[in-house]
Amino acid sequence: MSDRAGELAAALAAVRERIAAACAAAGRDPTDVRLLTITKTFPATDVALLADLGLSGFGEARDQEAIPKVAELATLRPGSEPRWEMVGRLQRNKARSVARWAHAVQSVDSPRLVEALGRAALAAVDAGERSGPLRVLVQASIDGDTGRGGCPLAGLDALADRIANADGLQLAGVMAVAPLGADPDEAFATLTESAQRIRRDHPTATELSAGMSGDLEAGIRYGSTCVRVGTALLGKRRLISP
Ligand SMILES: *Cc1c(COP(=O)(O)O)cnc(C)c1O
Repeated sequence: MSDRAGELAAALAAVRERIAAACAAAGRDPTDVRLLTITKTFPATDVALLADLGLSGFGEARDQEAIPKVAELATLRPGSEPRWEMVGRLQRNKARSVARWAHAVQSVDSPRLVEALGRAALAAVDAGERSGPLRVLVQASIDGDTGRGGCPLAGLDALADRIANADGLQLAGVMAVAPLGADPDEAFATLTESAQRIRRDHPTATELSAGMSGDLEAGIRYGSTCVRVGTALLGKRRLISP
């Protein structure tokens, strides 16, 4: 095993332990919480090593960075069946590209983006570039400050309805990042109420994507079904994404 492979294996074991402990403390089944590894700024060779360790869910924050990485992983590990997800802010003019590589988009926060992604997903299916609808999570801005993305909670239900009604898309659930400086427990307690309401209205919206390297325990306490972990698995990011 290379040094890097050993490092990643140890980090993965530690993250799995944290998830298991948080689930035990919350009385939850650890198989109900999936790990999405956020690979932004890290090379495809790292993703290949993570695939060797049995991981298959990877998240990227920028279309330009994801395109070559998705292709390179396919070359490095032709037998792997990764599922790539978009978790970063997305401009409408990238929708068509993202619909080619993404199994799901977690960062949908405006009606205009819903429209663009719906059209893009249908076009990608027509072109034989994807086999099914694009799974979409509506991204919530828990404190209403939309500067880092997300739809304020007051508009979240209407946006979820719009996704559920869009051809080409399937509403999969709700995603959020805890506001900077906020208590993640308080933030996720608020978030989970919105997510439960949306789940009642839309039975397919079962996913709650909450919790990252620093606050995955809080996410799990409040019902997260997907923790998005970058730093705790791959290490500190040196730069912003290329
Ligand atoms: C980068 C990123 C993460 C991972 O954050 P870490 O703190 O490195 O675990 C999770 N979610 C989103 C939306 C991100 O952009």
